[in-house]
Amino acid sequence: ELVYLNGWTGTFDEATISVNDRGFNFGDGIYEVVRVYESRLFAMDDHLDRLERSAKAIDLDLPWQKQELTAITEELLAESGISEAMVYIQVSRGTAHRNHIYNEEIKPNILVTVRSVPERSPAMYQNGVKLITQPEFRWQMCHVKSISLLGNVLAKNRAHRAGAAEAVFVHPDGTVTECSASNIFIYSNGQLLTHPADNKILAGITRKHVLAAAESLNLPFAEKPFKINELMKAEEVFFTGTIVELVPVVEVDGQSVAGGKPGPVTAKLHQEFTSLRK
Ligand code: PLP
Repeated sequence: ELVYLNGWTGTFDEATISVNDRGFNFGDGIYEVVRVYESRLFAMDDHLDRLERSAKAIDLDLPWQKQELTAITEELLAESGISEAMVYIQVSRGTAHRNHIYNEEIKPNILVTVRSVPERSPAMYQNGVKLITQPEFRWQMCHVKSISLLGNVLAKNRAHRAGAAEAVFVHPDGTVTECSASNIFIYSNGQLLTHPADNKILAGITRKHVLAAAESLNLPFAEKPFKINELMKAEEVFFTGTIVELVPVVEVDGQSVAGGKPGPVTAKLHQEFTSLRK
């Protein structure tokens, strides 16, 4: 494990930041989580593009070029000696006495951490997992990868308490958007569906690469909203994220979905996702 903080490198125990950091006070910041496979950053450009889009959306001027961020991350990664890693990059607006109004002059704080990828249970992929639904109670800027994650945290913990792997957000009209920390797909009537990348979801990097895998397999797909009743009847359901990749879903709010077992399309897409990144 290793930490980079504003030019300093050390351990988690030693790293400190001001209590006036706006990330700490307001959740005023953005982040990325990047997967490292065999010592190589996966889709770093996609992540840095998204970091730049998030920064722009919250009027934060990133003082670093993508190249610099890549160099900082690669150096930290090499120093850590970890080959299967999870990289966390966080940028807060900066440090100043607590005031909602920020001074345009403050300098963003940057944190990069490298840790081993947490163990993923093979049972999750072999047997599938449970979801709970949650009414969408977050904000209108879900496309920003903001460190203000209270809604996501509450939803995920409700899922955890219910013995489920994820919570999926459902709008009042039944539209399914995404999960607390992942995107969601259904396979129905020979077509793969996922919500369009608008302000209601985070445009997942895994989501993007799964759509590329569908294309490469000649599997029909559409970025089109679908409703919870369609999900309940779908042939297959899975969610996607950087660390979990693709996870088959077999139960929602205690009801069996997708025939109660992981399906062949999910497995095929996962396989293609894996081979495309090599
Ligand atoms: N949606 C939300 C709300 C997330 O927090 C995440 C990842 O943490 C995702 C989707 C999936 O994004 P990615 O595939 O880039 O990890």
